[in-house]
Amino acid sequence: MSTSTTDALMGYDEVIERFDPVMGLEVHVELGTATKMFCGCATTFGAEPNTQVCPVCLGLPGALPVVNAVGVESAIRIGLALNCQIAEWCRFARKNYFYPDMPKNFQTSQYDEPIAFNGFLDVELSDGSTYRVEIERAHMEEDTGKSLHVGGATGRIHGATHSLVDYNRAGIPLIEIVTKPMVGAGERAPEIARAYVATLRDLLKGLGVSDVKMEQGSMRCDVNLSLMAKGAEAFGTRSETKNVNSLRSVERAVRYEMCRHGALLAAGEKVVQETRHWHEDTGMTTAGREKSDAEDYRYFPEPDLVPVAPSREWVEELRAALPEPPAQRRKRLQTAYGFSDLEMRDVLNAGLLDLIEETVAAGGSPAAARKWWSGEIARRASAQGQDVPTYAAGLGLSPAAVVELEGMVTSGRLNDAMARQAWEGVLDGEGTPTQVADARGLQLNQDTGALEAAVDEVIAANPDVADKIRDGKVQAVGALIGQVMKAMKGQGDAAAARALILERLGQPS
Ligand code: ADP
Ligand code: MG
Ligand code: ZN
Repeated sequence: MSTSTTDALMGYDEVIERFDPVMGLEVHVELGTATKMFCGCATTFGAEPNTQVCPVCLGLPGALPVVNAVGVESAIRIGLALNCQIAEWCRFARKNYFYPDMPKNFQTSQYDEPIAFNGFLDVELSDGSTYRVEIERAHMEEDTGKSLHVGGATGRIHGATHSLVDYNRAGIPLIEIVTKPMVGAGERAPEIARAYVATLRDLLKGLGVSDVKMEQGSMRCDVNLSLMAKGAEAFGTRSETKNVNSLRSVERAVRYEMCRHGALLAAGEKVVQETRHWHEDTGMTTAGREKSDAEDYRYFPEPDLVPVAPSREWVEELRAALPEPPAQRRKRLQTAYGFSDLEMRDVLNAGLLDLIEETVAAGGSPAAARKWWSGEIARRASAQGQDVPTYAAGLGLSPAAVVELEGMVTSGRLNDAMARQAWEGVLDGEGTPTQVADARGLQLNQDTGALEAAVDEVIAANPDVADKIRDGKVQAVGALIGQVMKAMKGQGDAAAARALILERLGQPS
């Protein structure tokens, strides 16, 4: 059981002053293949326990595994996207250990012959700089089943009366992506860790190989961390915090471990090489099992599977078909859409880029797409604890709605205020923008005679303001437009009113 005593922590600034952090991240990604890595069982998430199993993934005597070709293809594509070399020939290996949710008593993995190795991923940081994360390897393996501990208060094994095992997940393909030790990160270490996992997630999503849902465990991160005294050459002893399952937690776990290691080292104590558990609620880590570098899994080449030897032609075919890297795509779209850096950052933070791209593809302008997918809908989505794409999908809202709304503004049927009302109606589930505008009687008054009359009245009633505008103080026109709109009961065309006032007062519009 984990100890509940709280760790001594050094202040973060002092850690940075006295030490250099070294980080290594291991990310496990569940592939979205239809079937498991070594058998034909389905991989559907959330199925009834033990309904997606067979003799192979249950490790029954005599059952023989066969490699999933799509799993290998995905592994190669991931390796290529991470700028890795792809092995010409590699094998699977058995990693032997006992665990109740691993029925074979070994995990089929790769050891000294990974399918992909020696790559890198460039990570953009919030200050606009780039940090290059070196990739040690990306290898193929399989997931374990899941244990459920029943009867205790916490869901942990401690205090439970019995445990249940669900083998549906056993054998689902995993890719483990391991970084080389990251040095020189300094005080940015927590931010870099988070940015790396976020960048990797976007990359994998773009490849379409996984749904990368950290909250469902289809992407999980182990955080290795050690400190070196400033100026030291050799790495310190690392801790390995397992299964950190959100971006925010990755950042917090790095920071916590830095402060914990700092306090230990400053007190002349040794850091224990061990795995640690991350606790989302308290933001702390607690000791797991001790781990040595020479941990003996008795790895040996898997005798039941043929080696994987991807032809160079196939690898080059896969390379040529890779999607545009996310960072490059973002730059291209920002330029094409004319968004400022600040606008682009807001778009990315809100996860709107795909929606905007689809809206533009459906005929909308980038500015209108950005405007309507932000603002009111973002407020409503965040009140529901959702992002805009999820919220919009829940409402059945498509980019076509934004294109329709924009069309009603450009055609002169709606002014901006009316368009906002129409959009609110759409978000309230009242129908398409046209249906809402029809139902609510939203329609600009196109009667130019009425507009002219209102403009002349307002100019006559405000001789002082009119004189100012005649003298060239054009910004004063706003006050008159407001009065014209009021006279038109909010149904006037503000742009037309502005042009008309300026014309009457002899100013260019
Ligand atoms: P293990 O199977 O023990 O987890 P791996 O090789 O799979 O070992 O992963 C170890 C991770 O820890 C790698 O990302 C590596 O870069 C990183 N690492 C190794 N040594 C250190 C260290 N002293 N401090 C921080 N990270 C380290
Ligand atoms: Mg590991
Ligand atoms: Zn199976």
